[in-house]
Amino acid sequence: MTRDNTNSANENRTRKPSESTGLRRRAFLARTGVAAGALAIGGSTIAGADVQEVTDVPGFSCDQPQFTCGREVTAADGMVSSVDPIASGVAAKVLREGGNAIDAAVALQYVLTVTQPHGSGIGGGGFMVVYDADSETVECVNSRERASQNASPELFRHGGEYDQNIETGEAMGAPGTVRGLETARERYGTFSRQRLIDPAIRLAREGFTVDWFLAEEIAENTDKFNDAAIETYSDDQGSLYEEGDTMTNPDLADTLECIRRRGADGFYRGPVAEDIAATIREYARDPDQVVDEDDLAEYDVTIDDPVRKEWYDVELVGQPMPSSGPTVCAMVLRMLELLEVEEYDIRSAEKYHLIADSIYSAWADRMEYMGDDEFVDVPVDALLSDDYLRSRADPIEFGQTVFPEDGPMGPGQPGETAHFSVVDRWGNAVSYTSTIEQFMGSGKMVPGRGFLLNNELTDFDDEPGGPNEPDAWKRPLSSMSPMMVMRDGKPEFTAGSPGGWAIVSATFQAILHRYAYELDPLESITEPTIYTHSFGGIEWDEGVPQEARDTLAEWGHDVDDEPGEIGNVQVIAAENDTLTGAADPNRDGQAVGFDRAPGRGSDD
Ligand code: GLU
Repeated sequence: MTRDNTNSANENRTRKPSESTGLRRRAFLARTGVAAGALAIGGSTIAGADVQEVTDVPGFSCDQPQFTCGREVTAADGMVSSVDPIASGVAAKVLREGGNAIDAAVALQYVLTVTQPHGSGIGGGGFMVVYDADSETVECVNSRERASQNASPELFRHGGEYDQNIETGEAMGAPGTVRGLETARERYGTFSRQRLIDPAIRLAREGFTVDWFLAEEIAENTDKFNDAAIETYSDDQGSLYEEGDTMTNPDLADTLECIRRRGADGFYRGPVAEDIAATIREYARDPDQVVDEDDLAEYDVTIDDPVRKEWYDVELVGQPMPSSGPTVCAMVLRMLELLEVEEYDIRSAEKYHLIADSIYSAWADRMEYMGDDEFVDVPVDALLSDDYLRSRADPIEFGQTVFPEDGPMGPGQPGETAHFSVVDRWGNAVSYTSTIEQFMGSGKMVPGRGFLLNNELTDFDDEPGGPNEPDAWKRPLSSMSPMMVMRDGKPEFTAGSPGGWAIVSATFQAILHRYAYELDPLESITEPTIYTHSFGGIEWDEGVPQEARDTLAEWGHDVDDEPGEIGNVQVIAAENDTLTGAADPNRDGQAVGFDRAPGRGSDD
């Protein structure tokens, strides 16, 4: 085990939750001064140069003239951008066959369950932001996991801190993804369930090529795998799958067949649900508080109105609570606009300082005020008001940070997801972030069913007392940030990322680079970023200049010694009748464009 997303990061995380939760946290914030504000309320790779050939999708090839594949591509009639070339290919094929963006997104997510099971899947949840071109409205299909109806604020009383809970039944929320996909398909889609789930079934049954990232995540998460997971991620000889192997998952194929036949009920009621509940019970410390068959049968999504904030001459739109992500992105971006960040060089200490101090302030508000709005009254309008954001931006000045010298430095919350976007020829758009929380979630696979259960409920505070305490049927606060930037009511740019708390930093900086610095879509995600939160400590991408880092340190920031890797951003820009998709080169992501009349609108 060399990577730190399971072992060392989890050790680190033990320092975070006690600071981050409940009364102790508030006491800390009051003491250190990065407290919540007082509210009066109630280097890029270009088109085609880095194409991943996709041979696992019958009927799809990057060589076909209607498709353009690469880290950044343009097209006229459809665009997909995801972390997985196979999934992007499947979705592009749906677009070619006349499916809309929502159809393509549903097919894509089912495929990710098979090909990228470390990042998301039917054992997890997510947020799908949908622009419906017919009604010219944005809605959010919210499939966030819920705690059991029998859970209490003391859900984690047996466990203590984060790392002791990640593999427990208490951490496993009622999964939302299948209900979310089927609801989205019924509400906005035009293709049948069977058509959209078949590519995933085929890949699970007949096999797909394991990419380096999946191979790495399999090798590095064996400690938390149960026997079923080890078996599923091993070949016939009992060796863990490696990069380039052809992996099959017949159990998952059967589970998907069951959904194919019975719809979401095939997952939430009957034998699959019984097995999910039994697995959760097996790992529970307190079986009375964990998700059971009744919870699964009653799970449903909500359809949410997005959070919105005007910014420069566009509007920022995204998933509202229980994700803090788009709200915090909007707070930070508006503060940066008020601070006139665009006046400073894109790699200057001044720019990074304004970003870091804006994050410290917004993050303190996140910790103080935000939680599932079915349970707590989150003052979103007040937090997003210009008067309030001006009051948060005003104390920020060069030469010193608003973060106190003796404030605790700690790691943020790690975690992993998948973000992808799809836009179709009619103007429909999807920005969807989907997760099982950590890489490989809880590591516990439902035996005989081929998918991993999430450990999303660790996103709750592990102590009672704050707005994000656990409770019955409550959804944990998220950082996932599926966003759309709208101009004149239409989506012009979609963005999102995995990365735990770093999702927010990765997503808003892509948007900042696109709009305040006018970078191309791919440049907007490859331009080096920084990441921090209200516990301090700045992580930075390779490319943040030494001189800027030295200045940040002089001004009181705690800057990491070595570069890190922040997020994995996928974006689509829709401007002047041209769609430009870009996929983050830090993994194997690929954008695939679709043109009905090849050549027209392509970038050659
Ligand atoms: N559990 C995280 C959240 O909802 C998502 C996983 C990730 O960190 O990427 O914020």
